Amino acid sequence: MKGHFYFPREFKRLWAILDEIAKREGRSRSKILRECVEEYVRLHEPGNPQTRLDVILDRRAPPKEPPRCSYCSKPATYISYLKDGLFSVARAVYTCDLHRNLHRAQSPYYGERKL
Ligand SMILES: [Zn+2]
Repeated sequence: MKGHFYFPREFKRLWAILDEIAKREGRSRSKILRECVEEYVRLHEPGNPQTRLDVILDRRAPPKEPPRCSYCSKPATYISYLKDGLFSVARAVYTCDLHRNLHRAQSPYYGERKL
């Protein structure tokens, strides 16, 4: 899969530094950019956990349910980031303490955020 990106003129200096780093580390620019995209998706995939302002202002809207563990439906205490599939895309799931610990023990790729 190929993609095209637009970088503004002021990005030129950063682009040159990226080239230096890539050369020094023996990696391609594409690989570094792919890693950046993976990291961004891993950090942002669950979305903004804050309630949207229009939901707060709309009194007819039902109260938002607190997140539940994706495995046992207990109240979630963490968002766990798991390696998912061949392309190493991060998948985010809500977990209770028990399932968080199970993921920590089993998953080769792991990150988390406390709720
Ligand atoms: Zn659980």
